[in-house]
Amino acid sequence: MKKNIDFLVVGSGFYGCVIAERIASVLKKNVLIVDKRDHIGGNCFSEIDKTTKIEYHKYGTHIFHTSNQKVWNYINKFTNFNGYRHQVISHYNNKKYQMPINLETINNYYQKDFSPREAEVFIKKKTVKFQKTNYKNFEEKAKSQIGNDLYNAFIKEYTEKQWGKNPKNLPSNIFNRLPLRFNYNEDYFKNCIWQGIPIDGYTRVFENLIDNKRISFQPLTEYNINNPIKPKYLTIYTGPIDKLFNYRYGKLSWRSLKFKNKIVQQEDFQGTSVINYPQLKYEFTRIHEPKHLHLERNYSKKSTLVIEEYPIINDEEPYYPINDNNNRAIHRLYKRDINKLKNFIIGGRLADYAYYDMDMTISAALVKFEYILKNFK
Ligand SMILES: Cc1cc2nc3c(=O)[nH]c(=O)nc-3n(C[C@H](O)[C@H](O)[C@H](O)COP(=O)(O)OP(=O)(O)OC[C@H]3O[C@@H](n4cnc5c(N)ncnc54)[C@H](O)[C@@H]3O)c2cc1C
Repeated sequence: MKKNIDFLVVGSGFYGCVIAERIASVLKKNVLIVDKRDHIGGNCFSEIDKTTKIEYHKYGTHIFHTSNQKVWNYINKFTNFNGYRHQVISHYNNKKYQMPINLETINNYYQKDFSPREAEVFIKKKTVKFQKTNYKNFEEKAKSQIGNDLYNAFIKEYTEKQWGKNPKNLPSNIFNRLPLRFNYNEDYFKNCIWQGIPIDGYTRVFENLIDNKRISFQPLTEYNINNPIKPKYLTIYTGPIDKLFNYRYGKLSWRSLKFKNKIVQQEDFQGTSVINYPQLKYEFTRIHEPKHLHLERNYSKKSTLVIEEYPIINDEEPYYPINDNNNRAIHRLYKRDINKLKNFIIGGRLADYAYYDMDMTISAALVKFEYILKNFK
């Protein structure tokens, strides 16, 4: 197969596998996908815990959600989804609250029984003194949206743990708007028409995407620009852009995560798939219980898998880009150099230095394939 590589795809996440699938199915050309890891699927990879037999997402809980009809039609050719709809709970001072902040959170926190309109008026009074035309930092902006109390309880220390910085030192545009609902809707992705978890897990989706005799997958193969595998037509690179050029303009900064898996000898540990722990007294930010992602499966009642999530700095496992002016300027320099390379294009979250949900990644890969198709003929 290596002798006859028409297209090379570097990285087997959604971006790489969708492009490979399109090239093989539509252009009928041979594609080699390489990945430095020992598995397919990028950060969406899922596997079965050996002891409990519960499927979990190795790089953090992934919920598929979209309102993009094109993406939904496309991905449904490779998997069915269960009917899971995501809900998040926050654990603050030994009580549980709904997230994002909604009418239940407000009433529960303030021990009130507000109607939607009363809650809106109440929060308006709490935020009015924080209104400005220009917000200097994240904290100022967040307080102007939800007030001091809710900010201190649910957002301040969580943000500090997540980003490793006091929110006063974070740019105001990290979140444009903190979600705030004056109703009891607890559907985390309420604006998405479709939601769910692939019925046979994420890894099976990737296996289905590349189930084509024209596609080969080579794990444990790190692409290096100084000694590249040369395809006949084009390389599509989805790895980190700074590493590709050996950090010639410096390193792009990322936040990373570490996960600690534990087996608990009880049927149900926390009653839901994700609970946030916003306070600094807990080093982890969230606890995941993946059993709850697949209520259609008959998992054992004897035990459950529980995963603590810890934010860390780790250049080798980039998760969230630190999208400030300095990093954006560095990224622009690398992008300029990409344009000078022949028969070489980039895409995906690592090369674009961006946070993309899965549906955005698939959509971007489908658009890039249209570009390849137009230029290939
Ligand atoms: C903690 C977390 C939770 C998330 N949860 C959700 C969610 O609930 N819903 C949602 O829609 N999205 C979620 N996402 C986003 C989702 O993970 C991304 O949309 C998706 O992974 C992007 O796919 P990708 O192909 O761009 O990148 P990746 O999945 O990261 O794939 C890139 C691949 O390239 C490989 N690679 C890198 N460099 C090289 C090299 N030099 N040579 C060979 N291989 C290389 C890597 O090993 C990796 O496998 C989440 C992201 C994070 C960080």
